[in-house]
Amino acid sequence: MNEKYNCDVIRDLLPGYIDNILSDTGSELVKNHLGECAECHKIYTEMEESIGKDDLSAHDTIAVDALKKIRKRMNHLKITIGILASILFIFLLSAALKIYVIGKPLETGYMSISDTVYNEETGQLTVNGEINLYSFHVSKVVWEEDKNDTNVVNVIVYYAETIPFAKDKTDFSVVIPNIKGKKVYLACPEYDRMEIYDWRTHHYEEVKNLKNEIYSKIPELNEKTDALDCMQGITTVEGIEGIRFCVDFICGEDASYWWFNGMLTTDGEFVPADFEIWISLKTPHKILIYDYQTGEYIDDFSIISNRRTAGDDS
Ligand SMILES: [Zn+2]
Repeated sequence: MNEKYNCDVIRDLLPGYIDNILSDTGSELVKNHLGECAECHKIYTEMEESIGKDDLSAHDTIAVDALKKIRKRMNHLKITIGILASILFIFLLSAALKIYVIGKPLETGYMSISDTVYNEETGQLTVNGEINLYSFHVSKVVWEEDKNDTNVVNVIVYYAETIPFAKDKTDFSVVIPNIKGKKVYLACPEYDRMEIYDWRTHHYEEVKNLKNEIYSKIPELNEKTDALDCMQGITTVEGIEGIRFCVDFICGEDASYWWFNGMLTTDGEFVPADFEIWISLKTPHKILIYDYQTGEYIDDFSIISNRRTAGDDS
């Protein structure tokens, strides 16, 4: 009984003994008893092992926690790298797009206009031209109303680098609606502008009427064989504003002509005229002939017949 009583007390003390928190006396007592009592020693061994296991599992938990933390950080790192890579990719893509696809406005000095065609019925102006830059292409052409003047339209041509081995697209065409009464500039925003069309000096409806007037007033001209081509700009003669026309006589047996996009085409042969016809914008229209040989404006239309005969002889 006494021994059993001792064993109970010793077993109560075992956890403290294992944790090394007993007094020296208590510790000595337990140690002595364990040396004598096999049963208590067995319990002690089991207890120590289990505590040791608990310690190990605690270590495991710490290790797992650490691993989890590392994994979390790795995930954060992966996401960060992913975001950075995406930003870099978008940056490079937009840079490539800007260089090769979108481009930027071109200075007008690098462009030339091949022709401007005004459509009287639709009021649309078609502007055709090209850029003169090696290894660059036209990426887009836009037109916009001028910020300061509603009667001015700016055409802006964008150019971009041509992808190696791709073909340069150097020509451009843009259609501007409702151009009547307006001026058109080729423009590079905040850099320069170049006038390419002024409806007043290109007012085709009026020019067409003036042309009819010339044919009806000058019997020496034949509407079928003499092509009138309007010269650009308004010229003042004797204080009156007018428009100049040059005359192309068409020779050849099968000569014919027709108007195509404002360009005179023919399968016949042209005789260059050495005079021009001027007609005033004011009604009733005044018609004068400018003779390059004398450098004078005259109202004697017989010069046309004489020059034509001279052209036929050659
Ligand atoms: Zn015992």
